[in-house]
Amino acid sequence: MQLAISDLGKAWKNFFDPALPDWGKPRFKSKKTSRQGFKTDRARIVDGKLRLDKPRGIKTWYDLKFRGAKDLSGDLKTVSIYCEKGKYWASLPFEVEIDKRDTTAKHTAVDLNVGYFNYTEGEISVLPKKLKIIYERIKFYQRQLVRKHVVNGNKATQSKNYAKARAKLQRDYRKVAAIQNNILHEFTTELVTDFDKIVIEDLNVKAMQMSHVASKGLHRSMFGRFRQILTYKADWYGKEIILADKHYPSPQRCSACGHIKTGEDKIGLAGNAKHGTKHHEYICYECGFVGDRDENAVANLLALI
Ligand SMILES: [Zn+2]
Repeated sequence: MQLAISDLGKAWKNFFDPALPDWGKPRFKSKKTSRQGFKTDRARIVDGKLRLDKPRGIKTWYDLKFRGAKDLSGDLKTVSIYCEKGKYWASLPFEVEIDKRDTTAKHTAVDLNVGYFNYTEGEISVLPKKLKIIYERIKFYQRQLVRKHVVNGNKATQSKNYAKARAKLQRDYRKVAAIQNNILHEFTTELVTDFDKIVIEDLNVKAMQMSHVASKGLHRSMFGRFRQILTYKADWYGKEIILADKHYPSPQRCSACGHIKTGEDKIGLAGNAKHGTKHHEYICYECGFVGDRDENAVANLLALI
C-alpha cells in the first residue's frame, strides 16, 4: 500500500517535470494486461528462502525456496512479484559494491557475425547446436499455432491442445533467452576484465544479413543486447567502448596497408568469384597481404584505437 502511494507520487512528479515531456499522466494498472503483479520493500532472504510480507490474519510465514539463494549478497531492494504467461516470477534487485577491474593496458576489437563473434583472442560461438535446435523447434510451434488459428478461427485459443502448444513455445522462448544471456554475460565479463579499450561496430548492418537462421528475430536481438550489456559493464568497471562508424569498411580494408576494396573487388560473392578468393580469405591486391577474413576485420577495428 505504501509503495503504491509513493509510486503514484513519483508518477505525478514526473508528469509535471518539464524535463520529461513524454511522461504521460499516471494510469491505473489494467486488470487485463498479461503481466499482473505487486511490489514490496519488506521482502527479505531468510535461511536461503524469500520471505514476503505476512498478510494480516495469517499465522505462519510462507517462505519461497529458490536455487542460488546462498550465493546472493548485498542489500535487497524493492522486490517485484509478477505473473506472466502463466508463470510466477520474483525479481530481486540487489545493491552491491563494484570492485573496479584492474587496468591491463590491453585492447581488443569485436567483429560480430551471425554464428560467431571474433576478437583478438580468437572466436566464440554464439549459435551453438542446442540453440539452433530450439530455433527450429520454435519455428515449428509457431507454424502449428498459426495453423490452428487458420483451421479453427478465433475459437482455436480456447482448446486444450492450443494451450499446450503455446506453453511449449513459451518454454522454448525462455530457454533461448537463458542460453543467449549466458553466452553474452560470459563473453562481456571476459572482455571488460581482460581489456581496457574495446572497439565494436555499429550493429544494424550485420543484423540485416541473416538469411540462414531460423527465428531470425530472436537471434538478431543478441546483437543489440551484446552492445547494451558490454556498455554497462564497461561503465561499471571503468573500461572504454569505442564504437566504429557505421560506414567504416572493416571487412573491405586491408589491415596491412590500409587499401580499401571497392566496386567489383569487394569481399562478397561477386568479388570472391572474380578473384578466386576462398570464403574465409582476405587477399590484398595492393600489397599482397593474405589473411583470414574475420581476423582482418578485427585488426581493422583495432586500428581505430
Ligand atoms: Zn594491403
